[in-house]
Amino acid sequence: MQVQHEFDIIAKLFSPLALGDKSALGLKDDVAFVLPNNFSKGLAITSDTLVENTHFLSDDPIDTIARKLVLVNKSDILAKGCKPVFALLNLTWPQNRSIEQLELFTKALGEELKGIALIGGDTTKSKDTLVLSLTMFGEPIRENPILRSGAKIGDLLFVTGNIGSAAVGLAALKNNKQDEFNNCVMHYRTPSLPPDEIAELIAEFAHASIDVSDGLLGDAQKLAAESGLGVSIDIEKVPVSPETEMYLAKLGDKLKERLRLFSFGDDYQALFCVEPMRAKEFLEAADNLEICITQIGECTQTKGLELKYNGTAVIYDGALSYSHNFE
Ligand code: ADP
Ligand code: MG
Repeated sequence: MQVQHEFDIIAKLFSPLALGDKSALGLKDDVAFVLPNNFSKGLAITSDTLVENTHFLSDDPIDTIARKLVLVNKSDILAKGCKPVFALLNLTWPQNRSIEQLELFTKALGEELKGIALIGGDTTKSKDTLVLSLTMFGEPIRENPILRSGAKIGDLLFVTGNIGSAAVGLAALKNNKQDEFNNCVMHYRTPSLPPDEIAELIAEFAHASIDVSDGLLGDAQKLAAESGLGVSIDIEKVPVSPETEMYLAKLGDKLKERLRLFSFGDDYQALFCVEPMRAKEFLEAADNLEICITQIGECTQTKGLELKYNGTAVIYDGALSYSHNFE
């Protein structure tokens, strides 16, 4: 397909991703137009940007970059107990990447959006840096979204999936150990989110919830702060993949290294609080949906983040989460 102009790209590549959603106006107008009728409960909105060499490496496959763009946004929406409904894409495509690559990008984007309509965006060029930004809208499954605030003292703290895989994957890519840590590399490039049904469980059972994107420990601290209480985490309970265990073993199983992995981010799991009285019912529901969940701690009266390793208090003076610093 020979598409070159911005308008061709929109018409041929992006408008099919609107899935005929009326709000998109066929991507032929200046705006998308959303009627409030269907969204009387409101919409949760999130936007995430991926920058070449900051959030992905230049030689990462273009389809995994597209998938990551969708997944990092979807992770926020699911963690709020919401169902993703539509998205906007802001694309800055560099001159040194081909139209064929853009076609591959669009194909993977459509596949990963899986029914989430692309209703608008913007298309621009740059000299040599790919910058992608996606904005996603989600509808609360119950009456309200589940926020970082709302946790109660005594609530149990649960996390989905594994933590630390992306950190190991990036380290493997940088050290040419891709074959040894293939699953972690895959997770770094295309995060494996919990199944979509996690949003229903969070909507039904969680008092408070956050997606783990900047680092489990820092994100737990944010949830605690917004809920006005403390969070205590049992480090040995935090789930890691077999490859991550192998990585840690090679480094002498040092607690400090484990804590570094838990502060790295890019996990895209959900971290949330459920009252103890409902924990059994909640875990049964998760089991029926085949969603992997681990209890890693609880909410406490003493504000801040408390870390324990096999019952002993741990002092960790490293950074608790990844942060883009501006100097
Ligand atoms: P304007 O210049 O008035 O902002 P454009 O010509 O850039 O409008 O865009 C036309 C339509 O195409 C708009 O509805 C816009 O939202 C949509 N659009 C542009 N780029 C993208 C993109 N990357 N993904 C999805 N929709 C897009
Ligand atoms: Mg424009």
